[in-house]
Amino acid sequence: VLHNRLVELKGNIRVHCRIRPLLPFDKESEDPASQNSSVPAEVVHAVDDETVLVKCDRATHPPINNTYSFERVYGPAESQQVEFGDVCPLLTSLLDGCNVGIMAYGQTGCGKSCTMLGPQSTGEPVPPWQPHSDLGVLPRAAGELFGLISENPSRSLKVDVSIVEVYNNNIFDLLAKDGRTAASGPKREVLTAQEAKQEVCLLTREPVHSAAEFTALAAGSLQLRAELATSVHAISSRSHLTITATLTTAPARGSPGAHHPRAAEQQANGPQQPEGSRRSASGGRAWPGALGAQRPAEQVHAKLQLVDLAGSECVGVSGVTGSALRETSFINRSLAALADVLGALAERRGHVPYGNSKLTHFLQDATRGGGDAKLLVILCVSPCRKHVAETLRCLGFGARAR
Ligand code: ADP
Repeated sequence: VLHNRLVELKGNIRVHCRIRPLLPFDKESEDPASQNSSVPAEVVHAVDDETVLVKCDRATHPPINNTYSFERVYGPAESQQVEFGDVCPLLTSLLDGCNVGIMAYGQTGCGKSCTMLGPQSTGEPVPPWQPHSDLGVLPRAAGELFGLISENPSRSLKVDVSIVEVYNNNIFDLLAKDGRTAASGPKREVLTAQEAKQEVCLLTREPVHSAAEFTALAAGSLQLRAELATSVHAISSRSHLTITATLTTAPARGSPGAHHPRAAEQQANGPQQPEGSRRSASGGRAWPGALGAQRPAEQVHAKLQLVDLAGSECVGVSGVTGSALRETSFINRSLAALADVLGALAERRGHVPYGNSKLTHFLQDATRGGGDAKLLVILCVSPCRKHVAETLRCLGFGARAR
């Protein structure tokens, strides 16, 4: 039923909201509004599958009794498996030639990495309260992707993966060999002067042949990201992480337009196309740069971008100086640019301001409206009263994107 609901939804941007459970560390910092700080107050509730209620009437905040509607709302007890059930149809769209973006947005500590990557992906110790089998979107999507590819061997689809971190408006290549030596210095910036044309050059693309290879590659670069965090920025939640799987296909012999796998089906089935296959028969833009030069015959079929955004909390600017202030302002600016892009798409404005940050430049394929891209934004929120201001900001961001 949930699969059908996602498939049936109109529009190319969908917003889900996930309320994480209360966790042991919620008790650590005192909630000033609570009489008993060892029992944090839960003020964010899933009323039903599509509605979040924020109800908070204690004196420290103005009374709040707001509801927000999203395509799907998950309460604290909802499993990763159920959540992926709603994400899964996007992989079918990807195979149909549609660019797909899945991004987690929210305050640090509200479950973005847990949702996107799962607790095992970084190789860091899994907290005792979290089951080890709780795989996130990345390994499940990798499994689904290669399952679908093996069901369609005639399409000869290949998968290349690139993994980048966007930090202080610079894009860093976590798969670059010299990126690994950069632990003692700045990481390599990969955007060239051609950035104005949204051409990301020299980005390493590693071919992967199975879900296990995909997941292992991601785990390795996440480990690198964690190591580099000490030299470049204190915690990884201050950067945006993007894992891009580019599906390429060799052109079929014959007409120039026949390289897109849909082309043969269109010839066989006539002009009517199933949802998600509205990409032109000329296919996607070829990925420029060194790799394109090595394999000129390949055409980009579609891209999957999985994005773990930097923490959305607006760190109080007073008292923050130097590099921390610079970092905060870059995060705020890039997330504001993302909000502007999603707002423009939701309102179907003619001009979508992709150019305002490298994050939105980079996510252009995944965020582009107009029929050949689908974007799922997963809002991750805390249930606690002490986080309510940030939760309201996060829900407002999601409401604006719809
Ligand atoms: P973020 O990436 O937003 O900073 P994390 O994903 O790292 O947040 O989550 C913070 C902590 O909360 C982690 O210890 C994580 O295991 C835990 N957590 C988040 N969401 C859930 C959930 N739905 N169920 C259980 N634990 C969760």
